[in-house]
Amino acid sequence: MIVLNPATEEPLAELESAGVEETDAAVARARRAFPAWRAVAPTDRARLLRRLATLVEEHHEELARIESRNVGKPISGARGEVAMVAQVFHFYAGAVDKHYGETIPVAGGVDMTFREPLGVVGLIVPWNFPLNISSWKLGPALACGNTVVLKPAELTPLSALRLAELALEAGIPEGVVNVVVGKGSVVGQRLIEHPDVAKIGFTGSTEVGQQVMRGAAGTIKRVTLELGGKSANVVFADADLERAAATAPYAVFDNAGQDCCARSRILVERSAYDRFAELLVDATRGMKVGDPEDDDTEMGPLISAAHRETVASFVEGEPLFRGEAPSGRGFWYPATLVEAAPGDRIARDEVFGPVAALIPFEDEADALRIANESLYGLSGSIWTRDGAKALRMARAIDTGVLSINSNSSVRPSTPFGGFKQSGFGRELGMHAMDGYSEVKNVFYSTE
Ligand code: NAD
Repeated sequence: MIVLNPATEEPLAELESAGVEETDAAVARARRAFPAWRAVAPTDRARLLRRLATLVEEHHEELARIESRNVGKPISGARGEVAMVAQVFHFYAGAVDKHYGETIPVAGGVDMTFREPLGVVGLIVPWNFPLNISSWKLGPALACGNTVVLKPAELTPLSALRLAELALEAGIPEGVVNVVVGKGSVVGQRLIEHPDVAKIGFTGSTEVGQQVMRGAAGTIKRVTLELGGKSANVVFADADLERAAATAPYAVFDNAGQDCCARSRILVERSAYDRFAELLVDATRGMKVGDPEDDDTEMGPLISAAHRETVASFVEGEPLFRGEAPSGRGFWYPATLVEAAPGDRIARDEVFGPVAALIPFEDEADALRIANESLYGLSGSIWTRDGAKALRMARAIDTGVLSINSNSSVRPSTPFGGFKQSGFGRELGMHAMDGYSEVKNVFYSTE
């Protein structure tokens, strides 16, 4: 299997695609490594994760270059992502000895709970943030004492392979972190059905998420699903319109729109619609699109030719704005703004590309109705100077992650995940530790 640079279409590497046999061997290695890894003293496990975080920091530029070349993402963004990977491992190094049980008052003895690791966990990740999303799963999985088999996306396996080498260099014992490169329908499917895999931590499309749930039923496997999104960026007329418009392009076009948190439905109160649309077009026009390895580039290409076709199929008629994109080699697609009504396909389905739908609304109730009129519920933003209105909206929107007067979605210490068909379970923060452990209750009789 040939791994490409989507900005140039040049090959970066040729790898052998693993099959069922290699997947089973990786699960067997992880299974053998589990008893010793779960027995490592918490302070030692923390020290190893801390050492991995430090190695990621020491290899910051190298990892950012791998990610930028393999995904086609701007190097500035890739640097930010690798910095977050290190922070995530630092966070979970600190979490190892802070995720503990309770003692519960009962008659006739002492009742206590323990947090036990699950065993071997299968981690399946997509191509848009390969290293980042791997770290969100690896951090809590390892901190809780599990061993892992990580399956990166076929298109972007390179950073996961390098991370596995760094894990070994950090002193994490052989067999604890295993990476298997291969097709979702082969390696992924085998992990989902494997009797010795206790849990699947999955990030990807809602469609494959449904297959994960179905496949996991046979062995009652635990699953965490981080799926698609179609998030709303709600701008009220009383907001700081300049700030909201200046940041809105980044909230959709970051990673060329291939971001599950993309605020790709921009809802604007009608009385401010024309003014906001003008500001938004200006801000989008100012985005620098081009060579991902250039420090100033803000948007790179899409991941593949096939994906570009899918993205293009969403844009019918003349858009409000279409930006510039390089011609020639590379899977380029321009930043595009489309005026839409709530029921339109472009306003409903996840495009996963640099296309935003601009939708007017009448008042608070209308904004809430449109925002919630989605199968998804991953992220979102509210822009207003009225604090009470912001909080009313924040409580009423059915979404897992919401920002007020900001478009930020992820931090190492705060829970991240979806409502509705955006999935369930939470990554990041201490909440993720619950997803990689079981609660065991022990009663000790004192009679
Ligand atoms: P995808 O669902 O096609 O693939 C995700 C992973 O699943 C890949 O590793 C793939 O090889 C594997 N896979 C595919 N078929 C499989 C099968 N039958 N069994 C097991 N594994 C299988 O998604 P993608 O195209 O790589 O990524 C884009 C999607 O991911 C978008 O929908 C996006 O919204 C979503 N996403 C969600 C989050 C989140 O945190 N909620 C983050 C990033 C991306």
